Amino acid sequence: MDRNLLLSLVEKYDSPLYVYDASKIEKQYKRITNAFSSVKSLKINYAVKALSNVSVLKLFKKLNSGIDTVSIQEVHLGLKAGFDPKDIIFTPNGVSLQEIENVAKLGVNINIDNLSILEQFGQKYPNIPVCIRINPHVMAGGHHKISVGHIDSKFGISIYQVPHIKRVVENTGMHINGIHMHTGSDILDIDTFLRATEILLDTVKEFETIDFVDFGSGFKVPYKENDIETNIEELGERLGKRFNDFCAEYGRELTLMFEPGKFLVSESGKFLAEVNVIKQTTSTVFAGIDSGFNHLIRPMMYESYHHISNISNPTGRERYYTVVGYICETDTFGSNRKISEVTEGDILCFDNAGAYCYSMASNYNSRYRPAEVLVYKGKDYLIRERETFDDILRNQVDIDL
Ligand SMILES: *Cc1c(COP(=O)(O)O)cnc(C)c1O
Repeated sequence: MDRNLLLSLVEKYDSPLYVYDASKIEKQYKRITNAFSSVKSLKINYAVKALSNVSVLKLFKKLNSGIDTVSIQEVHLGLKAGFDPKDIIFTPNGVSLQEIENVAKLGVNINIDNLSILEQFGQKYPNIPVCIRINPHVMAGGHHKISVGHIDSKFGISIYQVPHIKRVVENTGMHINGIHMHTGSDILDIDTFLRATEILLDTVKEFETIDFVDFGSGFKVPYKENDIETNIEELGERLGKRFNDFCAEYGRELTLMFEPGKFLVSESGKFLAEVNVIKQTTSTVFAGIDSGFNHLIRPMMYESYHHISNISNPTGRERYYTVVGYICETDTFGSNRKISEVTEGDILCFDNAGAYCYSMASNYNSRYRPAEVLVYKGKDYLIRERETFDDILRNQVDIDL
């Protein structure tokens, strides 16, 4: 999406604004399917929580993707977008047995990640197949808050508890149809991933009824120039071969699954905000925009880097700015960034705004959440309206005192 298009979208829909490029999503989807073309049965389940707009889900449906969901509400969004329940997998953590039952009744594939619920579910519904989430205790790279495979992680059933899983299966007569792992975001190193793969495949061998192996996600995309990214082509070649060999050994054609979020949508998104004020202090120049961590929390929560450019003045002299929000607490998007000269009223563009940006937005400071636009085959579609004051008041009960 070039800057003139982005500027015209801000003219049309106002700021702040999220814009997603459907062609980039399609390209990333095809990159994975091409990388794993050697695997006979491959299934990509897009992780809804990264960007959960129903129109984006429809785009994934068009691409033949399934979806990965973590709440019954995400399941309902997927059904609303037209997904067959069979193309939805539910991989929650820490939810109630009741919620799992309700999702199972919709015909959605269930993934269980603790022994207590596994045993209760197996006793009540021995005939509903269940996938189990294993924690292989392999450390994925990246930020400690997004690495979920380590020993202290709350996710998955420990690999050391496989004997206990087998006992539960035996006692209840339940049917395990899949083995799953999700080691957390940011797989930088394919060897580490393949190590976890061996552990997962060893677990598959413990059960005779497996139909699919779900390798989760954690694919890293570049957030800045020369950033490391998961080499999906190399992973496809090496894991694809290993998987095919394993199927031969197991004696059955298994489906290989992935559930990427960030990889599929991160780079498709741009976040556009207008500069309200330039403020010089004794040590820095602040560019204050008409947004805050209420709209894009990743820099404050994960210390993530989002590249920021001034699309109103792309050829201006580069100067150093600290880009901050309008929230009444420390609210920094980027410190000491080199950006072409910024004037009040300019539009700043944040890259990698597709994943975990809008979906983590809030109304903090009683601000409206932004609008979302999807650019699809050369046309722009408003896929979420900007909120209004009614949205702020919705569900509030204004009592007489
Ligand atoms: C969040 C999540 C994903 C997606 O992770 P990305 O890093 O965005 O690819 C996949 N699977 C599960 C179970 C998740 O919770």
